[in-house]
Amino acid sequence: MDYLPIFTKLENRPCLVVGGGDIAFRKVHLLLKANADVTVCAPEIDSRLLQKEKDQQLKIIRQNFSTDLLQGKWLVIAATDKRDVNEQIANAANALQLLVNVVDDPELSSFIMPSIVDRSPIIVAISSAGTAPVLARLIRERLEALLPMHLGRLARISGDFRNRVKEVIGNPSLRRRYWEKLFANGQLGHLLQKGQTANALELMEKTLTEDVTQGDVALVGAGPGDPSLLTLKALQLMQQADVVLYDRLVSADILDLVRRDADLISVGKEAGNHEVEQSRTNQMLVEFAKQGKKVVRLKGGDSFIFGRGGEELEELVAAGVAFQVVPGITAASGCSAYAGIPLTHRDYSQSVTFVTGHRKSDGRQLNWQALAAPHQTLVVYMGLIQSQEIQNQLLSFGRSPDTPVALVNRGTTSDQQVVIGKLSELTLLGGGLQGATLMIIGEVVSLAEKLAWFEPEGNHKLSRDPFLVNLS
Ligand code: SAH
Repeated sequence: MDYLPIFTKLENRPCLVVGGGDIAFRKVHLLLKANADVTVCAPEIDSRLLQKEKDQQLKIIRQNFSTDLLQGKWLVIAATDKRDVNEQIANAANALQLLVNVVDDPELSSFIMPSIVDRSPIIVAISSAGTAPVLARLIRERLEALLPMHLGRLARISGDFRNRVKEVIGNPSLRRRYWEKLFANGQLGHLLQKGQTANALELMEKTLTEDVTQGDVALVGAGPGDPSLLTLKALQLMQQADVVLYDRLVSADILDLVRRDADLISVGKEAGNHEVEQSRTNQMLVEFAKQGKKVVRLKGGDSFIFGRGGEELEELVAAGVAFQVVPGITAASGCSAYAGIPLTHRDYSQSVTFVTGHRKSDGRQLNWQALAAPHQTLVVYMGLIQSQEIQNQLLSFGRSPDTPVALVNRGTTSDQQVVIGKLSELTLLGGGLQGATLMIIGEVVSLAEKLAWFEPEGNHKLSRDPFLVNLS
């Protein structure tokens, strides 16, 4: 972090702005919003600043900068258009260990002023540390659109109600639950938007008497790896969770988005010990929910596609624990999209089948004859160690040895690798690959060359980050 964001209380604190033009005016305007005690110093003064002097909102000293003006100040802003003067101000302020901002000159500044989204008392500050002001502005515009105008009212009314909630709900974690439940209730925002404060208070009071002690489990699909492929609902639940039980497949970038105070428990499965692990996981889900916790069971991809989500839900139903399921983008969708392989295509493939290479030890066989038919796409999860078997079976039931195949390794992450070859060489292709790998077999794989992520030079419209796509 190049800068530490802090929010300073400037009420009645003396601040100096050097400069009397438009830029100085804008900075003065902000300082006055924070109720600072503002002095402006410049030989020539903008008419709007003069008006503010008349209105007794600030003092003006009609002279060039001199060091004695820094006496007793908290901070100083240099807004003159002369670099040597700005430099002189910065040096003098630094000598006195005063915070100084030189407008548009981070090099001379000891603090910089962020872009602001103001929903006081909620304030969002955005800075690119001077590297990309336009990007910072675009982010601000997004947040402006995202954060409703009544947010400030919501924060203020909540502040007024805090003591009442403390009185009624002694337990801090139940208190947090109360606030989460309240803010998740769209009705409250709706009332405040219409200015119906009394009704809003009534709703807050009523929610106090509702039961927030029941825990529950959310089975959340975390997608294939790229955090921006999470659903909004997944993110919301991850940020409300008390406990998160996650699989080995869930990437560190995604875990970073979990609420800081939540307990993170890895229930990663290593090959060979599945059954024991699974029953212990089921047991933990039930126990935590019964302790009144909000539990998130975070799984790679989608929980209902080779994720054993159904088995975990059966346990929860048996134990009478409330649950919900949030779908995720499954590896087949994520990997095919990021590798440029449409899973179906009118000219190449009329159907797609997802199978798993790993099967229960009862030896149930796949229907190889059906899977070997041409003009269909076969996606194999957990297939790498079964490459030999898959290759042999498909060839022996008549699939062409030239059928293209793709191995997508760590799909959608920044380490994604795609290896493309033919069915007849499937066993050789995966040799060097470590980590999650998806196999796509079928004529559609031949499109990868044409449709893989395409970024014409100088045109960054297509990016892995959908956030940036929308900004451009
Ligand atoms: N429920 C998950 C699948 C779990 S099975 C889902 O819906 O995606 C685990 C297998 O999924 C891995 O062995 C691999 O074949 C595939 N897989 C999951 N994430 C992947 C990724 N990012 N890249 C490639 N394959 C992946």
